[in-house]
Amino acid sequence: MAELLTDIRRFILEEFQLFGDVLLIDEHVPDPRPPAPEEITMPRKTKAAAREEEPLLFEETVGHTPARPKEPWEDARSLDELYGMIHDCSKCDLWQTRTNFVFGTGNPHATFMLVGEAPGADEDAQGEPFVGRAGQLLNKILEAIHFKREDVYIANILKSRPPNNRKPMPGEVEACLPYLRKQIQLIKPKLILCLGLTAAENLLGTTEGLGRLRGRVLEYEGTPVMITYHPAALLRNPAWKRPTWEDVQAARTLHDKLVGNE
Ligand code: URA
Repeated sequence: MAELLTDIRRFILEEFQLFGDVLLIDEHVPDPRPPAPEEITMPRKTKAAAREEEPLLFEETVGHTPARPKEPWEDARSLDELYGMIHDCSKCDLWQTRTNFVFGTGNPHATFMLVGEAPGADEDAQGEPFVGRAGQLLNKILEAIHFKREDVYIANILKSRPPNNRKPMPGEVEACLPYLRKQIQLIKPKLILCLGLTAAENLLGTTEGLGRLRGRVLEYEGTPVMITYHPAALLRNPAWKRPTWEDVQAARTLHDKLVGNE
């Protein structure tokens, strides 16, 4: 008898664990719960038929780009307005370690724009791109082709300094690159010069090496783009100064042709 009671008790406990307090011992009592999804045996509609019947709740997007709501800064009409809208950005983690958001500097109507990688320690401290040792060298390079720093526009792929000057991570680029794209849209330079491979890779989406990119004129949304060594690389390897000199001479010549004052 005790054994029978133990069996009944175990049975009830198992039922309770499986079904909660809806103990359906009597099989004639209908189960009030909806059938589990895999039990539903409705005839399957073809995808096309289902589409025709469903009201269109969201606009279809072209390709596979997921629709995302437009952000206010996308409508900025000037660099100042854009800066005001994005300078406290926290889309990636770099906001936590930066001192300054390094937006960009120079002539808002520049015909020649330079794009670097990301702010370093000096740039982070001063809030301006290319002000450290690499920046001093960049100023000399610009002078050599008869540009003053204030004539051109200088910006980076990232606006915030990556810790220890490490390379930008894909998520950081994804968050920050749209700002640079908007800057280019507003400035409308005639020619862009990418400083180093990171700038070229991210702006142009290319995977080619610097050796193959130098000396060519590529295009970013209709704007001609040239590529040369990053000034910091020249500090490490002075042998690259000569090819850089050739690149910037070629860039100046093309720039002048493009603005029509050859
Ligand atoms: N290196 C860059 O790529 N950008 C800067 O602003 C400074 C150093």
